[in-house]
Amino acid sequence: MKGSAGHKVLLFVLLPDVIMRPIMMTHSQALQGICELVGPIGWIDAADEMQPYLHEERGLYEGTAAAVVKPASTAEVAAVLKLCNEAGLGVVPLGGNTGLVGGGVPDFPDGQGIVLSTQRLNAVRDVDALNQTITVEAGVILAEIQRIAEEAGTLFPLSLGAEGSCQIGGNLSTNAGGVQVLRYGNARDLVLGLEVVLADGRIWNGLRALRKDNTGYDLKHLFMGAEGTLGIITAAVLKLFPRPPARETALCAAGDAGSLLQVLKRMRNSAGEALSAFEIMNRFGIEIAEKHVPSANDPFDEPHREYALIELSGGNGIRETLETVLEEALEDGLIDDAVLAASTAQSDELWAIREAIPEAQKHEGGSIKHDVSVPVSSVGDFLEEATSLVEAELPGVRVCAFGHAGDGNIHFNLSQPPGADKGAYLENWGRINRLIHDMVMGMGGSFSAEHGIGQLKRGDLVRYKSDVELSLMKAMKMTLDPKNIMNPGKVI
Ligand code: ZN
Repeated sequence: MKGSAGHKVLLFVLLPDVIMRPIMMTHSQALQGICELVGPIGWIDAADEMQPYLHEERGLYEGTAAAVVKPASTAEVAAVLKLCNEAGLGVVPLGGNTGLVGGGVPDFPDGQGIVLSTQRLNAVRDVDALNQTITVEAGVILAEIQRIAEEAGTLFPLSLGAEGSCQIGGNLSTNAGGVQVLRYGNARDLVLGLEVVLADGRIWNGLRALRKDNTGYDLKHLFMGAEGTLGIITAAVLKLFPRPPARETALCAAGDAGSLLQVLKRMRNSAGEALSAFEIMNRFGIEIAEKHVPSANDPFDEPHREYALIELSGGNGIRETLETVLEEALEDGLIDDAVLAASTAQSDELWAIREAIPEAQKHEGGSIKHDVSVPVSSVGDFLEEATSLVEAELPGVRVCAFGHAGDGNIHFNLSQPPGADKGAYLENWGRINRLIHDMVMGMGGSFSAEHGIGQLKRGDLVRYKSDVELSLMKAMKMTLDPKNIMNPGKVI
């Protein structure tokens, strides 16, 4: 007995040495190879220099990595991934690092892996004004794409708070939303073609600039919203649009959100596709914006409960449409007051209020956050029911509900009661999330409207997705990334 047990142990020890070594590259061999491949300009392994790539803005997640790697071309990305795949070394793709769910922060199961920054993939490969397309690499900053589109007399409509630093590769990987979704759709809707490096280093060139291409499975949609778990988007063909000659902006105030939703319906019926934004915010949002952000000023004399920022963009007649719908809404008692911007500067001032809210909230202590969507017809009910629920659960809580009501997407954020202990308050995060997400799902909604899953909502994905949906997602992950090197521990 003793002898045979010893024999077994000997075999176990011998297997990895004798059989595995020739075919399996070690992590350190892969890292050495990557370092040589990208050279000093594309390689960071000093702890202090890696730091900005290893945590996210809100401070919720902090990670570790063996190195931050910055390839300069698609071919380099492919060579890096080939080495990582051979060694089973994890890779976290990272763009502008403006995500809100920890999707770009490393969480390697074995503590080993690299961050792959797309920063140096920053070429604009083509602008075709007649075809209304722009072909860009993943690391191009969103605001830069907007600027180049404008120079070409066109519009690239994706627009969000982080546009000055977020990169298009990240926008597409996370299927970003923002303030123009109502008219132009989210990031996914703005893409005609993609170039993707797969986990094993193969390059899929799907950079087709076609409006019609009905040739089997539409693979590009697999990689958008996958948060880098299936491959790395290295370039994209994006849709451009005609530039609306004018825009008109108004802020209106009402006693409840349901009335504002009726204004949305009327505005859509009258303005059609000229309606390009319909953002709502509550009194608390306006109060803190005024208090903490100098550029944000409430244009009304009286406080109101709910507000909607409305933008129409298009040609002749949009101002008259905006005026008429708001006048009728006033007459019918749907709204209490309204202001129309008389100039671009005034329009910017109204937007400044809406845009100040996320920043203002940081000065009001701890905040329990939700990024949820419901059918637009349920937004009023959601706000009412969710507010009653959290006020009962968290006495003194200050609801900061704002966002893209025209898309049914509300940022339902809950600022701590004044003077409360921040740490103790934030301990309610999971419990309150659960209650709100259960409510949202009961209304046929989503627990993540535009921010994604990352690390923050992994548990929700398992809780709310059906077995069929989860098994399909796992099957795709197994097919495209059988060694689980692509952003391991995220989404699924
Ligand atoms: Zn948003």
